[in-house]
Amino acid sequence: MMPGPRKRAPKKIAVIDPDRCFGALACSICQAACPVANCIVEEPDENGRLVCAVRIDACIGCGLCVALGNETAPQARDFGCPADFDAIDLVAFEDVVRTMESAGTADIGAGEPAGA
Ligand code: SF4
Ligand code: SF4
Repeated sequence: MMPGPRKRAPKKIAVIDPDRCFGALACSICQAACPVANCIVEEPDENGRLVCAVRIDACIGCGLCVALGNETAPQARDFGCPADFDAIDLVAFEDVVRTMESAGTADIGAGEPAGA
């Protein structure tokens, strides 16, 4: 488990689709898979249902939370978000920042994207 802040922003980070998440209290497999402390948190969706969400300022883009079979993950993994839900994709960090900035919610943490 990595407790501290990351050194630099990753090229990609995980993004969870709340509409596909089974529920943070019912599942939480992604939280168990994630090596970064407090990276995947529980948040209410628009209906007040608790789902998992990835902190953009903490994710290192390792892909360990992504469902087996989802090709956005960069490395082999033993388990991840259940394939029935497949709620997590790795997305280009810059695209996530751009989306959050346009929504006025960006808090990106350390650094520029790797390779930028
Ligand atoms: S990509 Fe890695 S660091 Fe980011 S939320 Fe998934 S398991 Fe955690
Ligand atoms: S593993 Fe997938 S379905 Fe389960 S809590 Fe995480 S995002 Fe939701």
